[in-house]
Amino acid sequence: MNELYQPIENLAGVGEKRAEKYHKLGIHTPYDLLFHFPRTYIDYANPVMIADVENGIPCAIRCTVLQKLAVAFVRKGFSIYRVLVTDGISDMLLVFFNTPYTYQAMKAGEQYYAYGKLTGGFLRREMQSPQVQKVENAMLLQPVYPQTIGLTSQMMRTNIQRTLTLLKQQPIETLPPALMQDYQLMPLTNALHIVHRPNTHAELDAARHRLAFEELLQFQLGTLMIRHKSGSQAAISMSASTSIQDFYDHLPFSLTRSQNHAIQIICKDLCGAKPMNRLLQGDVGSGKTAVAAAAAAFTAKNGMQTVLMAPTEILAQQHMSTMTGFLAPLGIQTILLTGSMKAKDKRAIKKQIAEDTAAVIIGTHAVIQKDIEFSALGLVITDEQHRFGVAQRAALAEKGGCPHKLVMSATPIPRTLALIVYGDLDITILDEMPKGRLPIQTFAVTGGYRERAYGFIRSHLDAGEQAYLVCAMIEESDSLENVQAAETYAETLKQGAFRDYRIGLLHGKMKPAEKEAVMAAMKAHEIDLLVCTTVVEVGVDVPNATLILIENADRFGLAQLHQLRGRVGRGTVQSFCILVTDSKNEDARNRLKIMSHTNNGFAIAEEDLRLRGPGDFFGHAQHGMPPLMQAAFCSNMPLVSETQMAAKQLLNIDPELMLPEHRALRTAVLQLFAKNGENGLN
Ligand code: ADP
Ligand code: MG
Repeated sequence: MNELYQPIENLAGVGEKRAEKYHKLGIHTPYDLLFHFPRTYIDYANPVMIADVENGIPCAIRCTVLQKLAVAFVRKGFSIYRVLVTDGISDMLLVFFNTPYTYQAMKAGEQYYAYGKLTGGFLRREMQSPQVQKVENAMLLQPVYPQTIGLTSQMMRTNIQRTLTLLKQQPIETLPPALMQDYQLMPLTNALHIVHRPNTHAELDAARHRLAFEELLQFQLGTLMIRHKSGSQAAISMSASTSIQDFYDHLPFSLTRSQNHAIQIICKDLCGAKPMNRLLQGDVGSGKTAVAAAAAAFTAKNGMQTVLMAPTEILAQQHMSTMTGFLAPLGIQTILLTGSMKAKDKRAIKKQIAEDTAAVIIGTHAVIQKDIEFSALGLVITDEQHRFGVAQRAALAEKGGCPHKLVMSATPIPRTLALIVYGDLDITILDEMPKGRLPIQTFAVTGGYRERAYGFIRSHLDAGEQAYLVCAMIEESDSLENVQAAETYAETLKQGAFRDYRIGLLHGKMKPAEKEAVMAAMKAHEIDLLVCTTVVEVGVDVPNATLILIENADRFGLAQLHQLRGRVGRGTVQSFCILVTDSKNEDARNRLKIMSHTNNGFAIAEEDLRLRGPGDFFGHAQHGMPPLMQAAFCSNMPLVSETQMAAKQLLNIDPELMLPEHRALRTAVLQLFAKNGENGLN
């Protein structure tokens, strides 16, 4: 039995306690441990001279021990251990607090690497709590692992060392030899060895390349297999002669060129022999809902049902009213189904759904996936807003035969990422805004300007406009901190700056019905100023709202700020976005500057990707790709296209990866997608 796949507690040096900690990191076997890649490496390969480094900057110094000073017992439970070392030119002290181990192990006259930050002045430089390695058997690039409490990098290094020995005895490989040769990739066993024990930057790069290649390849194989699977099913084909002229006739505005184009493409897909799998990407406010309505009308005229799924109840509610506005004049039924409805009402609605074979059903993802049997489902539209739910998409493939699928996303994502995340979908982009929209004016200010900003907001409220005030301490909108902050803020404004105005409050801890009531009041202009957490982010549409002030703006990513800002600028009146921050952090200030300069979601997404890395786009947990790998490929467009080509080549020969030389890869792909709750591949 291969020890690599035994429970991690069977590994020498791992007890029950440590095993538990490993479980928390999702590591259950030594094999898993091999794929727990270093977050970064401490570079001992280029040591510097003490005299050459500034204080406070981490550095590695190669030094010889001159003298071990006597232990200083400062008080009970607090001792200091000091070692005087020299780099040949200057001296410094290595200082350890309460930890005698390294001190005890060091010997006068021997050579060590010390890594840490220098402090102190001209007379006495010192390095506190340094990492120390003996020069003789030093790891020149020492891995630092993503950790959990009670599990240090040192412990992991030791356990991984043992695992690497096992690996040597029983090498593993997932890629077929022909592919490794074609793309000049090193064997997996070597790559794993090097990534945990690199000797040089060059070999580390090659190993990372191999691992990134494989990760990316697996992901692309998975999405292509989903695509292949749904593409090979027969579509519920609609009639190309269907007219939705009456839809156009009843529109209160004329569509943009982009919208018209998207509708044409979608209707063509609906008439095709394969089920549609399309992503409709468009910046906030680009008018995706009207496109969805046209597709629903087309489907209804073919005697089939459309379901529109929204991520939240507020959004479902809003879609219900918008879609009804578009579709009621055509005599098409719209039906809302949400989790907060009474069981009795739900039953009645389900009966209606079973009977009306051409209705448009709107609800939240959860409710619709769980509760409904459709009578004639033709089209499924998902409004993801800013989620990338590969798993959801696959799950949907199982529902109600094989309907056409349209995914709407409001987060413009850079092309590189779109190719990966939406590899199973065709992509259509709405790249223009409805006519008459004025670009939102954005200002970044410090807290000192708050009162003036309030005055500015009041003048607009006096003119009959409405405003949002987003007050969140942290990104996660439902957190208690945010809720309390919003409540307090609303109270303060009610007593003070906005005592003459109607103030509403919206946060994630409110019941769905309460939230809906507040949003309805906002839409009906019964509220002038809505104080809220980031729950307001998702797709809420109140065209009369022209101002949004965002507190703690530095705490949000650009993509999220852009989403929030998209709550205004939805009508024809000039809108404003005020970003308040007292952060002195230069990165944060730069990000806000970018917001002030551009309204283009795609440009902002590129910047966000560059500044924050791809983790935020992917959501690490969602697909299980380690951050290191992401970093390797995301800035690396050639690797994306290379792996895409490789994936297509493989599937051309062997669509299900059933050949013996592909089985290992197949298993890996299934596992990667199973981790994400994916069930569309089996
Ligand atoms: P999003 O793409 O962000 O979902 P919506 O579909 O909510 O955007 O549309 C934003 C607003 O623009 C809505 O009030 C909608 O009625 C309006 N709208 C959509 N298309 C047009 C258009 N072609 N001309 C004018 N207004 C439009
Ligand atoms: Mg929308």
